Amino acid sequence: MKYYSTNHNAPEVSLAEAVVQGLAPDRGLYMPEKIKKLPQSFFDTIADKNFHEIATTVAEAFFGEDIPKADLDKIVCDTLSFDTPVVKVEDNIYSLELFHGPTLAFKDVGGRFMARMLSYFISKENDKRHVTVLVATSGDTGSAVANGFLGVEGIDVVVLYPKGLVSEIQEKQFTTLGQNITALEIEGTFDDCQRLVKSAFMDADLNAAMKLTSANSINVARFLPQAFYYFNGYAQLRRKGVKGDIVVCVPSGNFGNITAGLFAKRMGLPIKRFIAANNSNDIFLEYLNTGEYKPRASVATLANAMDVGDPSNFARILDLYDNSHKAITAEISGYRYSDDQIRNTVADTFKRTGYLLDPHGACGFQALKDGLKEEETGLFLETAHPAKFLETVESITHEKVAIPARLANFMKGKKLSIELSADFNDFKNFLFEKNKRQ
Ligand SMILES: *Cc1c(COP(=O)(O)O)cnc(C)c1O
Repeated sequence: MKYYSTNHNAPEVSLAEAVVQGLAPDRGLYMPEKIKKLPQSFFDTIADKNFHEIATTVAEAFFGEDIPKADLDKIVCDTLSFDTPVVKVEDNIYSLELFHGPTLAFKDVGGRFMARMLSYFISKENDKRHVTVLVATSGDTGSAVANGFLGVEGIDVVVLYPKGLVSEIQEKQFTTLGQNITALEIEGTFDDCQRLVKSAFMDADLNAAMKLTSANSINVARFLPQAFYYFNGYAQLRRKGVKGDIVVCVPSGNFGNITAGLFAKRMGLPIKRFIAANNSNDIFLEYLNTGEYKPRASVATLANAMDVGDPSNFARILDLYDNSHKAITAEISGYRYSDDQIRNTVADTFKRTGYLLDPHGACGFQALKDGLKEEETGLFLETAHPAKFLETVESITHEKVAIPARLANFMKGKKLSIELSADFNDFKNFLFEKNKRQ
C-alpha cells in the first residue's frame, strides 16, 4: 500500500519508507492511500473473537499488502501482551481501560507495535547504520516508546521532555532505563520539544550524518495500531448485551488516538459519532465551534498528556474529511474541562460509583456524560492508570491509590537524564556528538 503526505507536496512512499521516515519531507503526515472496509461477517461474529483474532484482522487490512501474514501476526501478538477490558461505570457509560500495558497508558500499544515494525523493516535494509528514534513527550509517549524499544538491536532512542512539566512517575519510566535509551530534559514546553524533533528531521546536515526517525503519533506505525482496541472495546460491549451503534469519547491532546478511532469507523466499526474531550488546551473545540484552527502555546493542566497547543494529527483529520468543517462537525463534537472540573469529576465519580478516574479519563468520562443522549450507549477511553498521577488523584479523593507492581519497580531506578536548552543548535550539537561516539 502507498502512503501519501497530508501536505500533498511529497512523493508517495511504501509502508517501510513511511515508518522509517516518520514525517514526510514536506512536513506532512503520512496517510494510507486507502482504508479497507472489513466484511459484514467480521462484525456479525466479532463478539466471539478474542483481542488477538480481532487485531490481526484489522492489522491485515492496513499492512497485509506489505508484510507477510506470519510476520505481521507475530508483531501484533507480541505487541498485545495485555488486554484492554471494558468496565461499566454507570448506566450506558463504559470505560475502555487502556492502561494494562507495561507503562500503564494507552501509548504502550502504539509504542510496542512501532518498535517491532521498525526493527522488522530495518532488519531487511542494506544500510546497517544505527537508527536514531527521536521522540518528544508530554509525559506518557516517552515511557511507552522507550520501553517498547529498550534493548532492541540497531536502534537508539532519544526522548525529549519538558523540564518540570511531567510527573515524577512518568519521568522515572523513561529516564531510568539506560542501555539504548537517552532522556533529554529540555528547558521549555512540550511544544518546544516537538519543534526540536521536527526541525531535526528537516535539517540537511543531521540527515546526511544519521538515520533519524520519529516515534511520535505522527508515525503511521504508532498511530494506526491504536485502531485495534476500538474494535476490541466494541466486541466486549456486544458481549455485555449492548446493541446498535455506540458513541465513543476520547480524551485528546495530539489527536492521534481519536484519529485511529475515525479510521476504525471508516473500516465499518459501528460507531455513531465521536466526542473529543479537551482540557484547557481547547484548540480543537474552538475549531469545531468556529471553523478556524488557531494553534497557540499550550498551558499546563492536571491532564498533562493533553497539554498540546498545535495537535499534529489535526492534519490527518482534515485530510480524512476533505477539509470539510461541516463533515467533521457532523461526526465529532467536543467539550473542554478546567482543572477544577477535572477534580470535581474524579471526586464525584469515585464517591458515586467507586470508579477511580485519572485526570485524562476524567475529561473523557465527563464529556460522555455531558454529550450522551438518553437512548445512546457510550464508551470513553481511560487512557492511563490513576496511579500514574498519584499526588493529584490522592489529593482529590483523600484515599491511598494502590500502586501496581510494574509501576513501583520504575520508582526504584535512578534518573539519568541530560539537561539541554530549547535552542535547536544545542540539540543538533548533542546529536552530532552522540553520533560520533557510536
Ligand atoms: C497521550 C495521552 C493522551 C492524548 O492522546 P493523543 O493521541 O495525543 O490525543 C490522553 N491521555 C493520556 C493518558 C495520554 O498519555
